[in-house]
Amino acid sequence: MDCWQQTHAARENPASVDQTSSYPGKLLLLKETRMSAEIIDGKAIAKEIQAEIKTLVANFVDETNCKPVLAAVLVGDDPASQVYVRNKERACKRVGIESQLHRMSADSTTEDVLQKVVSLNTNPEVNGILVQLPLPPEVDEQLVLDAVNPDKDVDAFHPTNVGLISQGRPRYLPCTPHGIVQMLFRSGVQTTGKRVCVIGRSDIVGKPMAMMLAQKNCALGSAMANATVTLCHSRTQGLAEIASSCDILIAAIGKPNFVTAEMIKPGAVVIDVGINRTEDGLVGDVDFEAASEVASKITPVPGGVGPLTVTMLLSNTLAAAQYQTEHSFGASAV
Ligand code: NAD
Repeated sequence: MDCWQQTHAARENPASVDQTSSYPGKLLLLKETRMSAEIIDGKAIAKEIQAEIKTLVANFVDETNCKPVLAAVLVGDDPASQVYVRNKERACKRVGIESQLHRMSADSTTEDVLQKVVSLNTNPEVNGILVQLPLPPEVDEQLVLDAVNPDKDVDAFHPTNVGLISQGRPRYLPCTPHGIVQMLFRSGVQTTGKRVCVIGRSDIVGKPMAMMLAQKNCALGSAMANATVTLCHSRTQGLAEIASSCDILIAAIGKPNFVTAEMIKPGAVVIDVGINRTEDGLVGDVDFEAASEVASKITPVPGGVGPLTVTMLLSNTLAAAQYQTEHSFGASAV
């Protein structure tokens, strides 16, 4: 048995491990590294940031006599999307941002949705545009997202914004990865010099997350950048070994309990992005109970990354209103 196999076997079945093998300290090490991770409370961090945003919004309104406006486009009646949009509307209200909901029927065509986006692009009262995903299968999602004016693209999905992020000069940051950086920062976790494993290469979470952490700097300072990032995906070989060598593990896969304790380096920080609806309710991508015994800090599901995603959307909407005011367009009169 090599070191890796022995570690795995010891966690599965301690009696199976040859105590006289060439790794005599391994079991002792496992015992010593068993810990109860500190929970990173996403709800509390989101509340703290929303209070800050509320103050900044009030200052913006005082200075400009205009209120930031977020327009959400909701096509069809997907129940999860309805909940997400409602949560975003409530969050806007909490911080003083005006929200508009543009409902469109499930049989809308790509052309219909494009027309809606174009009308919001040219509406000077609207600062931020959010197209709730997923769109019905008949609607060309890429075409719609590409049609959003990059200055109003508060999800930061437009190629212009993705390009700016990749060059290290972002205008807006994508909400979930931005929320994760904020969580790490406000929990006292620095990323500079750390090994980070991101599992999942979606355009919404995994890819921008990896890109942001690998930059030389960010708005929170170089301590929250400069990571050595490994981006893992469905074709990665030796994923468990890569993951368990990293100081920070970010899971964005969409598979319940995919990340087991064996994939986590003792003392690592674990960020669980996954939201999976199961018979046991909402669960993440990480086996929370087992992971909590190995990690030093961990996010729960629910109550972890989710509240931060909504919060960073508010931050981007304010940033969009500020940007557009400086460039002489947008922001509605109070
Ligand atoms: P996605 O569904 O677009 O892609 C999943 C990724 O996981 C893919 O890149 C794929 O390569 C990878 N993957 C799949 N199987 C794998 C395997 N066996 N090994 C390694 N990698 C594998 O991803 P997404 O949109 O980023 O969503 C991921 C999860 O995060 C979902 O559960 C989603 O609901 C959740 N999510 C949560 C938030 C939040 O705010 N908490 C935001 C966005 C997404």
